[in-house]
Amino acid sequence: MTVYLVGAGPGDPGLLTRRGADLLARAEVVVYDRLSVIDLLDLAPDSAERVNVGKTPGSPSTDQDAINDLLIDRGRKGLTVVRLKGGDPFVFARGGEEALALARAGVAFEVVPGVTSAIAAPAYAGVPLTTRGMATSFTVVTGHEDPWAASETDWEAVARMGTSGGTIAVLMGVATRGAIAQRLIEGGLDPATAVAAVTWGTRPEQIVVGTTLAELGDAPIESPATIVIGAVAGLRDELQWFDKRELSGRTIAVAAPTPSALADRLREALREAGGHVVPIATSVLVPAADGGAALAAVAADLGRFAWVAFTSVTTVAALDDHVRDARAFGAARVAAVGPATAAALTDHLGIVADLVAERSSGSELAAALGDAPDLGSSILVPQAAGARPELVEGLRTRGWSVEEVEAYRSEPAPRPAEDVLARARDADAVVFTAPSSVAAFVALLEGVAPAAAVAMGPTTADAAVRAGVARDRLVTPAEVSVPGIVAALVRLLS
Ligand code: SAH
Repeated sequence: MTVYLVGAGPGDPGLLTRRGADLLARAEVVVYDRLSVIDLLDLAPDSAERVNVGKTPGSPSTDQDAINDLLIDRGRKGLTVVRLKGGDPFVFARGGEEALALARAGVAFEVVPGVTSAIAAPAYAGVPLTTRGMATSFTVVTGHEDPWAASETDWEAVARMGTSGGTIAVLMGVATRGAIAQRLIEGGLDPATAVAAVTWGTRPEQIVVGTTLAELGDAPIESPATIVIGAVAGLRDELQWFDKRELSGRTIAVAAPTPSALADRLREALREAGGHVVPIATSVLVPAADGGAALAAVAADLGRFAWVAFTSVTTVAALDDHVRDARAFGAARVAAVGPATAAALTDHLGIVADLVAERSSGSELAAALGDAPDLGSSILVPQAAGARPELVEGLRTRGWSVEEVEAYRSEPAPRPAEDVLARARDADAVVFTAPSSVAAFVALLEGVAPAAAVAMGPTTADAAVRAGVARDRLVTPAEVSVPGIVAALVRLLS
């Protein structure tokens, strides 16, 4: 029953505070705008009301009074409201006005500070705002895009902060950068003073333009940017780190069913390596048509099989929902289609697979089981509805008595937004986790084949080639694991 003014940080979702994350997780209403970090909305419960009061430059936006009224209304209804704001809520974010409106209306509120872009964007650009022997202070000042500030700022005073060894960080100053530079120079700042302009700082699309005060007006800078003026901006050449990571500047689409723990971990790892990730859900995994009854029945009696063969991480997770622990398997041996599935068996059930096919494909697994102990006795194969027939056919040909059980079904995923599809189309590479993901992805892009791809196994690779990916722009990771896939991508794109 409180309205929380929460700083979302500048763009890297990892820069949200723990308190902000906790509050989002129990929000009943989330009010956000253009500079809020959109990824963070996923932290709120599905049931939360999400209200976009976005201000896109050049288009009409919800005016401040309407936002205040909305916050007051939801607060009075006794709801837990998170007002998410880019950076810090009290740094040029009108958080003060919203807090005043709430205070005057008698609605309880709290403020959760955030990492302001004024500090974070320079940090991600390799610019330390203060540095021993170089800068003893920093001044954060708004450019004149916001009319109320136009008459407020004494640029000559700001210039004096600069000439006396201070760094100047200008927010909202892209449109007026030429005039600002001129006034700072008139105020006594050396025209040769170093400048670093950081656009979309801390986000994968971060761009840093290095220039000088004299040239700032003509430098190609896009909004939103934090413009850092001062000698410390020159340290960037030596201190930049963000653009030097293995996948910096690369856009990678991950085409996988949802939910997928592997895709989630991969997304994190790719971001960590500097990549810009565009997740594309190619299908939605839902419980088996019988609600999982048949799976539950076999799960209660796994010990009667000589073997249980797993064909995907999802199958392992589905069965895991029905067994308490590894003892449910009794003396049954366990086979995995590949290393990722084997790893999932260990993670979920503490089971070390007795047999792992070297290349993740159903026919390879059937072949490997052709030399297995107990050949010809009973083997359980939990699979997706409509799974490819190679494994089961291969096992039957080799004399196994196969029992199939439906572990889950996949349904078509909703179509992603057009801007997401456009980014996927332009991606430097696409990661495909399964053959069905290739087909679904290419269908979404109306037949446009990806420029390069990582395919999780040979069957998926064949599907990618059929979809038009050039063989020399296609790799299969040596090891099917998150680090293995990242390494394959780095090789592919370097
Ligand atoms: N409350 C926010 C600032 C809002 S004013 C904060 O504390 O960061 C909006 C201005 O912030 C933009 O015009 C730009 O100057 C700056 N800004 C916001 N996000 C930014 C980012 N990711 N990189 C660089 N500057 C950013």
